[in-house]
Amino acid sequence: MPEQKRDYYEILGVPKTATDEELKKAYRSLAKKYHPDMHPGDKEAEAKFKEASEAYAVLSDAEKRRQYDQFGHAAFEGGAGGGGFDFSGMDFSDIFSDLFSGGGDIFSNLFGGGRYGGRGGNGPRRGASLRAAVRITFEEAMTGVEKELEITLKDECVKCNGTGAKPGTSPVTCSKCGGKGKIVYTQQSFFGTMQNVTSCPDCRGTGKMIKDKCPDCGGTGYTSSKKRIKVDVPAGIENGQSIRITGKGEPGINGGERGDLLVEVRVSESSKFERDGMTLYSHEKMSIAIAALGGEMLVKTIDGDIIVPIKSGTQTGTTMRIKGKGVPSIRNKEVRGDLYVTFDVAVPTSMSTAAKEALRKFDEETGDSLHATENIKTADDGSKKKKKLFK
Ligand SMILES: [Zn+2]
Ligand SMILES: [Zn+2]
Repeated sequence: MPEQKRDYYEILGVPKTATDEELKKAYRSLAKKYHPDMHPGDKEAEAKFKEASEAYAVLSDAEKRRQYDQFGHAAFEGGAGGGGFDFSGMDFSDIFSDLFSGGGDIFSNLFGGGRYGGRGGNGPRRGASLRAAVRITFEEAMTGVEKELEITLKDECVKCNGTGAKPGTSPVTCSKCGGKGKIVYTQQSFFGTMQNVTSCPDCRGTGKMIKDKCPDCGGTGYTSSKKRIKVDVPAGIENGQSIRITGKGEPGINGGERGDLLVEVRVSESSKFERDGMTLYSHEKMSIAIAALGGEMLVKTIDGDIIVPIKSGTQTGTTMRIKGKGVPSIRNKEVRGDLYVTFDVAVPTSMSTAAKEALRKFDEETGDSLHATENIKTADDGSKKKKKLFK
């Protein structure tokens, strides 16, 4: 992953010498704080929760912690692929059993790590969704565009047909859960006796144990490869909307369907247009002469420049509605919103001598009626005397 990852100890807020008990305590308090059940739809909390979970998953495992201390994040690169961290070796149930129900589900949902079995047992389960993002320009959002993106897709290992067992051997039924993949236990809590179902820690919910691991997939049953995926971004898409590509997510479990790929589209802002739904807004500068005399103006639209007529005596700030030059409907490209152009009269800041002369002449011609710049003083005799300011 190209993103710079934070140090696991730093994430959990513990020293490098922290004991297992300290790690657990630190993680528990972070998990409580950021658990997605407590912050539905809050992406930041979700990210924090994931980050802390990943840090704990590594540091709570003596062997992984040793590797991390020695090699840093590089110790685990290439293992999980596609932004998913492999939690398959983890059992969070003792951490979450008294905090939240179904500690396992949250991990398979969040991390797309289908191998971390939740309550599903042995039945076919749909693979988790994968997420990706593409960035497009404002113009591309107006016309629609085809983008290609590269993602790491997991596939069932061809060598072992996804069993994770070395060819010629086969997985044996897990003795701990009797092949059910889950364990039911009762627990005393504030609310009385509670029955809790948790994923079997020995077989991680699969119901099977692998004695001899497949050499190709290391017993996971999956191999990862990079795939290029075409994303058809429709015209009219808004920043933050997602496109669902069915069947390009994580592989299903026990013969379940593949999950989907959700591609979030990020649209750059335009320097010219402001968008509100299907309506566009823009500004054009208009000369004093055109404003006064009327004429024609070039107006930028998303389809190119068009010419619009300007009435004489158009005031600054006048808005014109141009039908059908707004944003196309995401459902039907032919249906378009409108464009509202506001004309701002631009006062010249540098002029040629001839232009200045012409403007003075204009001022003299049009005279009093327009002048706010004339200073009107009351003379001694009470009559109004006018004094020109410039000249
Ligand atoms: Zn394999
Ligand atoms: Zn088991």
